[in-house]
Amino acid sequence: RVRTRFAPSPTGFIHLGNIRSALYPWAFARAMGGDFVLRIEDTDVERSSQVAVDVILESMEWLSMQPDEGPFYQMHRMDRYRAVLEELKATGLVYPCYMSIAELDALREKQMAAKEKPRYDGTWRPEPGKALPAIPEGVQPVLRFKNPQGGVVAWDDKVKGRIEIRNDELDDLVIARPDGTPTYNFCVVVDDIDMAITHVIRGDDHVNNTPRQINIFRALGKEPPVYAHLPTVLNEQGEKMSKRNGAKPVTQYRDEGYLPDAMVNYLARLGWSHGDDEIFSRAQFLEWFNLDHLGRSAAQFDEAKLRWVNAQHLKAMDDEALAALVSAQLQKRGLAAADLADGRLPRICALFKDRCDTTVALAEWAQVFYGDVTPNEAELAQHVTDAIKPAIAALSETLATCEWNKAAISAAFKQVLAAHGLKMPQLAMPVRVLTVGTAHTPSVDAVLELLGREKIRVRLQNG
Ligand code: GLU
Repeated sequence: RVRTRFAPSPTGFIHLGNIRSALYPWAFARAMGGDFVLRIEDTDVERSSQVAVDVILESMEWLSMQPDEGPFYQMHRMDRYRAVLEELKATGLVYPCYMSIAELDALREKQMAAKEKPRYDGTWRPEPGKALPAIPEGVQPVLRFKNPQGGVVAWDDKVKGRIEIRNDELDDLVIARPDGTPTYNFCVVVDDIDMAITHVIRGDDHVNNTPRQINIFRALGKEPPVYAHLPTVLNEQGEKMSKRNGAKPVTQYRDEGYLPDAMVNYLARLGWSHGDDEIFSRAQFLEWFNLDHLGRSAAQFDEAKLRWVNAQHLKAMDDEALAALVSAQLQKRGLAAADLADGRLPRICALFKDRCDTTVALAEWAQVFYGDVTPNEAELAQHVTDAIKPAIAALSETLATCEWNKAAISAAFKQVLAAHGLKMPQLAMPVRVLTVGTAHTPSVDAVLELLGREKIRVRLQNG
């Protein structure tokens, strides 16, 4: 059974680059009928925070990428790591190292001066027939992992292909600090074993950890999982996406009116492809997704493209469903749920969705129908001239008593146009500006019908 995981460190607000690292393991588990596990890697206590965890959970919930298991917190699993450490000690694959920081620094400087890669030199590594230095007094040792010597660590990465690392390039990793707390690479391996992870799909900033982790897997008597290391997501400036250079938290896109399915669609294409398909549903994505079509080069975020994808999903969405989202937004802006349930909202969505790329933009249009309008100043000056005011008044009068449907409203316009010797735009433009706030709207009779007699009367009077 396929089991994948997302293992974020809650050290900042999760951004689109991060959540894409959740999308693929989630999709792979779903596509394979497997399980998706969420593990919070919170061992960097200084930099981790509960708010950051909350944003991770909220983001996954918004995108309906809920885990089947978890969240598990590494800080809650310390006893388990210590227990496995003891097991490993018993096999002789771990040894204490008493080298001080000063000695390590001196070693590094010497190696750098000799143009060598800095690495631990194995001073305290026990070997048959080797005499170890005298144990210094009062020093708490770190524990190091006895990395195999000679040979290679290799794996067939699902993105990068075959990777082989010579063991001689890896030094003996510290797996427990002087106070006994286990270090990062060790915890990850214990977790991936305990959680029975079959496929590790993560950012390629972890490629360098992988050979070390594979060796620890084997030392614990387990075979490593399949690895897929995803290329970086770059921001619009071509830098690695990060909160330090302005990446927005995922939840901000929710607040800006993006649809979860559109976001899933957009993120899916940021490093994976299915032929030339650009717009697809969640179900389609899960049907298509596999690890064979992950991209090898860095993907670049493009907000305009995201808006376009969102607009496509918005247009294709059912009007009732869209109305529910817009209603929720209008309620947040203080409108009453009961007023919004008068049946007009789905029709307003149908009328305006083609010209909106977010639900926020759609809510702004809808607000004009339920709340107040603030006509655009420049358009007022341009269209609502003194010369046209008598015709506006006449239209207002006719609309006060005519039948209420599109045809009747259209007939009212024709009547006034004829009586005043005007062409449609000369009257329709100012009427739009006054009633809806701008001259750029869908067909005026459809808009007015939805706006309703009373609002029209009041708004035209202000002309
Ligand atoms: N916690 C790591 C990170 O946030 C991910 C580790 C992993 O996936 O193995 O970058």
